[in-house]
Amino acid sequence: MNESRLCPHCRLVLTPTSLLDGDPVEVDVCPRCCGIWFDVNELEQVLEAVRHPEARVDRRLISSLAERHATPVEVRYVPCPICAERMNRCAHGHRSGIVVDRCHTHGVWLDGGELEVLFEWGAAGGHILDAAVREERRMEDQRRERAAAVEPYGSDPLCLTLGPRRHSSGWLADALGDFIMRLMG
Ligand SMILES: [Zn+2]
Ligand SMILES: [Zn+2]
Repeated sequence: MNESRLCPHCRLVLTPTSLLDGDPVEVDVCPRCCGIWFDVNELEQVLEAVRHPEARVDRRLISSLAERHATPVEVRYVPCPICAERMNRCAHGHRSGIVVDRCHTHGVWLDGGELEVLFEWGAAGGHILDAAVREERRMEDQRRERAAAVEPYGSDPLCLTLGPRRHSSGWLADALGDFIMRLMG
């Protein structure tokens, strides 16, 4: 059934392997480069299975992982083991440092060693940091929208209150600056 699945790098036949004890998920491993093919959703299932129940963010570990994988040795687009279409390269998670090859129809390819990094990243709370970063961006967007609505001259009140005096650009700007200072104080 899997005889036609080849490693996108070595062109060797992949070996169906169960990653976890008693786990129904069978991934396909390259005997030479130890790259792993995950059918759609299999990677998520495996990461979920090894995830710590009481996860917390270890920022130092995450950033060290990102450094280790900051510069890929060689970036090239490789074919999906199933449909042979060239896969997309996309980052997996915020600052995991891992760029995976993904066929949107069939699944994900991880090069040898990358799964261990994702395990460490998950154990370090990477998925929590992921959610935190998304939330931070959303709040920042909201702040910017509110600021733009209140201050037509820009979102930095210092520009209004200090700017006019330093450049002596007129009494109106000064008065406006003082007015806003009073509102805020
Ligand atoms: Zn290989
Ligand atoms: Zn495919």
